[in-house]
Amino acid sequence: MTDPGAPQTPAVRTTGRAGAHVPGRNAWLIKRARLAGGEPADLLIRDGMIAETGPGLGSGGAEVIDADGLIALPGLVDLHTHLREPGREDAETVQTGTAAAALGGFTAVHAMANTEPAADTAGVVEQVWRLGRQAGHCDVYPVGAVTQDLAGSQLAELGAMADSAARVRIFSDDGRCVSDAVLMRRALEYVKAFDGVIAQHAQEPRLTEGAQLNEGEMSGKLGLAGWPAVAEEAVIARDCLLAAHVDSRLHVCHVSTAGSVEIIRWAKGKGWRVTAEVTPHHLLLTDELAASYDPVYKVNPPLRTAVDVAALRAALADGTIDCVATDHAPHPAEDKETEWAAAAFGMTGLETALRVVHEAMVETGLLDWAGVADRMSARPARIGRLAGHGQPLRAGSPACLTLYDPAGRAAMDPSGSPSKSRNTPFAGMILPGRVVATFLRGAPTVLDGKLA
Ligand SMILES: [Zn+2]
Repeated sequence: MTDPGAPQTPAVRTTGRAGAHVPGRNAWLIKRARLAGGEPADLLIRDGMIAETGPGLGSGGAEVIDADGLIALPGLVDLHTHLREPGREDAETVQTGTAAAALGGFTAVHAMANTEPAADTAGVVEQVWRLGRQAGHCDVYPVGAVTQDLAGSQLAELGAMADSAARVRIFSDDGRCVSDAVLMRRALEYVKAFDGVIAQHAQEPRLTEGAQLNEGEMSGKLGLAGWPAVAEEAVIARDCLLAAHVDSRLHVCHVSTAGSVEIIRWAKGKGWRVTAEVTPHHLLLTDELAASYDPVYKVNPPLRTAVDVAALRAALADGTIDCVATDHAPHPAEDKETEWAAAAFGMTGLETALRVVHEAMVETGLLDWAGVADRMSARPARIGRLAGHGQPLRAGSPACLTLYDPAGRAAMDPSGSPSKSRNTPFAGMILPGRVVATFLRGAPTVLDGKLA
């Protein structure tokens, strides 16, 4: 129940005090949440785990959350987050980025390796992993660089990063492409020893020299250097063939073109071990926005056409694209609020991901909430080999979950964001839904839409 005059979304109200079970915050009873969008049920959390689900559970001293009308999803998992620390703490830190992640419903993020210094040694990935533990807003899994200093010439210490406390399983030079076919082959071969995966930022460097936005009608109109779809597609095709050749795991980052979808569908049809992700912005926005010359729409890979957007949505719906990944890429104002050609590539995305997927995939009837749980939690957790995330909401699973209110629409307002950056293309856009609460192993990181 909502208080009269309260905002359109039900507030989380907690009642009850733990008696025998002090401290009470070890136990929560979530009442009448729709588990992955299904029928309403209660969810009892105790000692970090889901103890019981079902109708009409007794509180037994647990703190009670009235979740009537809310959808419970397994905690979201992002395979692609730029936390910028170490080195660019003016743009984001592990602390601020993971706070934004929790507010977006995430319980785990993978921190990309293009920091300063790059995360190319056991020392740096352990530093990022430790900062994540200290921040406590969500689990941070560092991505290791494929090549030393992301320079594309020599393999980084992949084995040492895999063996480190950070237990790295995903390796990527993201921001740059591993364009050398021999290095890519060696990396794919190397990570097989520890069930790792190479996540490729597919961008043929020569075909994209000076490129500013999608090559097409819009780049011609604006007189800016175009970024052809083939620069992405050619690398994806090559990498699928390489992965098959050495029987290793390839993950394709931020797929952005209809042609890329066709190649991935073909590779999967062969039974090759290829997975792929799409960003929320590529599911909703097109290159026509560049007509404004507003660099908030400048991103790598670029926004594409409506035909591409339709293909990406269909591919996420049918599973050709496995998951949504934010590519949260914070930049300080001075790097974005400048002329287009000088501006940095990238957009923030952690806090808006679920709302954008709701708009692009659920409102359009392409995915139901069980599908969202699969594409934003279960599958990315599987790709990252995370045992403690992406589990179904049932007794015995770790209590990592998010409560989402699908009712109502509101303008996206970045002003209160804990992120250090504000480069979101969704500011002011009317989007559905609201993340109400997030739990990490039974502890609330977000309650009533605010950091707990
Ligand atoms: Zn990238």
